[in-house]
Amino acid sequence: MTVTRFAPSPTGYLHIGGLRTALFSYLWAKVNGGKFVLRIEDTDEKRNSKEAAQAIVDAFAWLGFEHDGEITYQSQRKEIYAKYVQQLLDEGKAYKCYMSREELDEIREQQEANNERRRYNGKYRNFEGTPPEGVEPVIRIKAPESGTIVVHDGIKGDVSFEAQDILDDFIIARSDGAATYNFVVAIDDALMGINEVVRGDDHLSNTPKQMIVYEALGFDLPKFYHVPMIHNENGKKLSKRDGATDVMEYKAMGYTPESLLNFLVRLGWSHGDQEIFSMDEMLKLFNPKDINKSASIYNTEKLNWLSAHYIKNMPNDDLAVLLEEYGIMLTSHDKKEIVLDALKERAKTLKELADLVNEVLTAPIEYEEKAMKKAFKGNALEVLTAFADKVNASIELHLPSDYHTLMEATITELEVGFGKIGQPLRVALLGKLSGPGLDDVMAIIGKDETLLRIENLKKVVEE
Ligand code: GLU
Repeated sequence: MTVTRFAPSPTGYLHIGGLRTALFSYLWAKVNGGKFVLRIEDTDEKRNSKEAAQAIVDAFAWLGFEHDGEITYQSQRKEIYAKYVQQLLDEGKAYKCYMSREELDEIREQQEANNERRRYNGKYRNFEGTPPEGVEPVIRIKAPESGTIVVHDGIKGDVSFEAQDILDDFIIARSDGAATYNFVVAIDDALMGINEVVRGDDHLSNTPKQMIVYEALGFDLPKFYHVPMIHNENGKKLSKRDGATDVMEYKAMGYTPESLLNFLVRLGWSHGDQEIFSMDEMLKLFNPKDINKSASIYNTEKLNWLSAHYIKNMPNDDLAVLLEEYGIMLTSHDKKEIVLDALKERAKTLKELADLVNEVLTAPIEYEEKAMKKAFKGNALEVLTAFADKVNASIELHLPSDYHTLMEATITELEVGFGKIGQPLRVALLGKLSGPGLDDVMAIIGKDETLLRIENLKKVVEE
């Protein structure tokens, strides 16, 4: 059975790049009917792991995907790691190193001066003498001194590392006993039964080290997939300056889970030239072998395009429920259908849609000066008054087309162009010259509110 994992280090929020990794891992597990587990890599005790785990659980809940089983916390597994450190010591595959900080620094300076790679010099690897007093040793693993380590990567193909170029006997436990990063990741992945590791390619250089640990402990290697990074449009690693990095900020900005997941799955993965993927489709089609070998480019326009697509195609009942989060209560509003039909094609996000709904449902408190100047030329006031009279005299006014008929009748009667009624009426209803169709707006707010808004504006113009 395929078992994948998401293994974030606690940051207090779920990072957008992390979410993409999580999504790829999740999809690959589920495409294969397998399991997707969550491990919090909280070996750095200064960071709060509970808060970070909660942030991930919240984000997963919003996005509608779940991890299998309990969350694993590395901070609770110290005894397990200590046991394996001891095992390697007992088997002679690891050793105590008593080198002082000063001595190590000296060696490094020397190596730098000689233009050599900085590395431990192996002094205690086969040490048989009396260890220096008063030094708490670190534990180092015996890494191969020569040869090639090949990562058979599911995305990048075979990636070779020359042992002498990248490895030294790296530390697996510090002098206080704390096990180190690459050691615990390998142990956890092996013990948790992870057989397919999908992660960012910023970890590729860790993989040979982790492979040494697998080898030393006799664990089976998983299949690795190192996913190229997400870049900004200038080809640099995505940062906060390029957009939100916290997944929950995307919720606050009004993106739907569908659009965000669809956006992320296409950052690096493709299936022909298809752009729109429902979760069901992703769960049928995803395969990490189709992940691009090069970095993907974060593109806000693409996200907005997808978001607009999902909003436009969402049933109004569902939209109304989602809008509540943004302060718009339409679920039992009698004009729900007209409001949403009129406005949902104009919004890129739920937040924008909420603003549009608000804009239509609330009478303008001020009128844009430029719009006023443009709209109130010649006999505009007269045209507006004529229209208001017709509205006032009509009993059956419900549909957008009812209002449209009255607008047509007004311009025919006064022999003016459509702009002569459209512009002043638009300013009256919305305070500006942009916005949704006027007949829709009037059908949404109704006859009385339409008349009231026209009256309000007339007062201002006549002043
Ligand atoms: N904890 C690492 C990170 O957040 C990921 C480790 C891994 O996936 O192997 O970058």
